[in-house]
Amino acid sequence: MRSVGDDAVCAVSVIALFPAWNVSEPDNYKSAAAACQGGHLEDILTNAADSDLKLTGHALTPGAQRSWWLREALAREGDVSPCPPLAADANVDVVIVGGGFTGMWTAYQLARHHPQLGITILEQDICGGGPSGRNGGFASGWWDEAESLVKLFGAEAAVRTCQALGASIDGIGAFCSEHKVDAWYRKAGYMFAATGPRHEQGCVEMAHAAAELGHPEELRLLTREEVQARCASPIFRTGGFMPDGAQVQPAFLARGLRRVLIELGVKIHEGTTVRRLDPGPAAVTDAGTVRAKHGVLAINAWATAWPQLARRVAAWSSYIVLTEPAPEKLEEIHWTGGELITDLRHSVRYFRTTPDGRIAFGGGGGRASAHLGDTFTHDSRAVSESAEGFRRFIVDAWGGPIDVSTTHLPTFGSLPGSVHYAVGYTGNGVAPSHLAGIVLADLVTGADTDAARLPLVNARTRSFPPEPLRSLGAAAVRRAIIAFDTAEEKGERPNPIASLVAHLPRRMGYLLGP
Ligand SMILES: Cc1cc2nc3c(=O)[nH]c(=O)nc-3n(C[C@H](O)[C@H](O)[C@H](O)COP(=O)(O)OP(=O)(O)OC[C@H]3O[C@@H](n4cnc5c(N)ncnc54)[C@H](O)[C@@H]3O)c2cc1C
Repeated sequence: MRSVGDDAVCAVSVIALFPAWNVSEPDNYKSAAAACQGGHLEDILTNAADSDLKLTGHALTPGAQRSWWLREALAREGDVSPCPPLAADANVDVVIVGGGFTGMWTAYQLARHHPQLGITILEQDICGGGPSGRNGGFASGWWDEAESLVKLFGAEAAVRTCQALGASIDGIGAFCSEHKVDAWYRKAGYMFAATGPRHEQGCVEMAHAAAELGHPEELRLLTREEVQARCASPIFRTGGFMPDGAQVQPAFLARGLRRVLIELGVKIHEGTTVRRLDPGPAAVTDAGTVRAKHGVLAINAWATAWPQLARRVAAWSSYIVLTEPAPEKLEEIHWTGGELITDLRHSVRYFRTTPDGRIAFGGGGGRASAHLGDTFTHDSRAVSESAEGFRRFIVDAWGGPIDVSTTHLPTFGSLPGSVHYAVGYTGNGVAPSHLAGIVLADLVTGADTDAARLPLVNARTRSFPPEPLRSLGAAAVRRAIIAFDTAEEKGERPNPIASLVAHLPRRMGYLLGP
C-alpha cells in the first residue's frame, strides 16, 4: 500500500500536522540554533527569521556534512579499527561490493555460519556512509504490501514473505542485544494515520487484505480516538496499526555491524571503488583486483549504472529532516510510545521520534535522475519543501538515493557467473536488507532453505524502459503523483492531466502510484 517516493513534496505543511510546535517566540529560534551541532547561530537565526528557508548554514545545507545519525555514530566510536583501501590483488571466497546494510548483513550471515569462508567487502566510502547510515530508521514489515504480494505471488507465498520480514525485524533486535550494539532499537509498531477520506478507505483495504490472509492482528484498524491517543495531530483521522515496526538509529546499527564483522574476521576495504565485475567473478578496482568464487552486488541505487541490474531500478532522491529535542512537546501530543508514523499519500510522509525527543521526518521533494549526483544529497529545494512550516526547529537535513523497483518490492537473486544481488528496496530497505543478507548468504552457499525459496528470490519482474525514458518518465510521474495527492488531500478533483500521468505506471503493469 505504501507507494512510490516515500519522499515527496508536502502539500499540507508538517507544522499543520504538529501544531504543538507552532509557536513564534524568538526564543525558539535560539534553542534551535543552540541545539545545532557545530554552532552556526547567526545562519540559523537568519534562516529562521526569513520567510524563505535559505539553506546557507552548514548544518542546514544538505550534503555539507555526514548525516546527523552518522556523525553521532562516528563520535561515539572514537578510535576504531581502520579499514584501509585495497592496496593489492587478492583471492577470497566471497567478494561483496557495497558496505551498506545489504552487504554487511550478507557478510554477517556468512561469517557467522561459515567461519571458514574468506569474505571481503569493498566500499567506495565508509561502511554506512550511504543510505544505510542516513535513512529514517523505520524497520517496517510488509503486511501493508499484502495486496501487491498476493497479486504477484499468491496468498500462501505472501504470508511467508511477510512473516520472514517480521522475523528479520526481530532479528535486528536480537543482533543488537547479542552484540551489544546500542542502535536505539525499539519495536513499538507502525501507525498509518489517514489525512483524507480516501486514505481512510486505504486503511480499510490494507486491514482487509491482512484479514483475508488469516492475519487480522498484523494490520488492524484504529479509530480516530485510538490514533489521537498515540499521536494527537488535528489532521490525523482514523488509521491502521501494524505491530511489525521498529525504530533504529541507522548509523549506530551500520557502524555496529562493521565492528562485529571485523571481530568475525571479515576483511573490509573502505575508500575502494569497484569499477566493474569481470567474469570469475573478479572485482576490479584502481589498486587491484579481488578474485572470488562468488560476488555479491549490494549497491542499492548505484545499480542504475551497472549493466547487470540497471533496468530493474530507477534512482530517486529522498531527504530526512531532524528537529531539535522537544520532549515536552511530544508529551503534549502523547507521542511518547515510539511508534513509527506515516500518512497514506502515494507520495508518503513519515515521522519518528528519538530517545531525546526529536522528530525525524521524511517527505522532502526529491528528484529522479539517471546519474547519482548532487541532487541526491545537496538539494536545498527538497529540504525547504519538506521542512515547510517547521523550519525554525530544524537542526539538520540530509538526503540520499533510493532504488525504486517496478513492484515497490526488492528482488534478491543470482546472475550468471556466481554473482548474487539484492536491489529495488524502493526506500524501504532497513528491515528487508536483513532478510536479503540471509537470502544472499544461502544463495552463495547453495543452501536450500525457506529463505532461498521466498518468492522474491529470482522473481521475474517487469523492467523499466531504458534511459533516458526511465528518468524522464520517473520525474514526470513523480510530480504528477504529488499533484494528485495534494488535490485529494484538499478534497479537490485532481487535475486530469496529473491524474492521467499519475496512473500511468499501473496502466503499464507496474505496482507503483495510485
Ligand atoms: C533519506 C532516506 C531515508 C530512508 N528511510 C528509510 C526508512 O526509514 N526505512 C527504510 O526501510 N528504508 C529507508 N531508506 C532506504 C534504505 O536506507 C535503503 O533501502 C537501505 O539502506 C539499503 O541498504 P543497501 O546496503 O542495499 O544500500 P546502501 O546503504 O546504499 O549501501 C550501498 C553501498 O554501496 C556502495 N557502493 C556503490 N557503488 C559502489 C562501487 N562501485 N564500489 C564500492 N562501493 C559502492 C555505496 O557507497 C553504499 O555505501 C531511506 C533512504 C534514504 C536515502
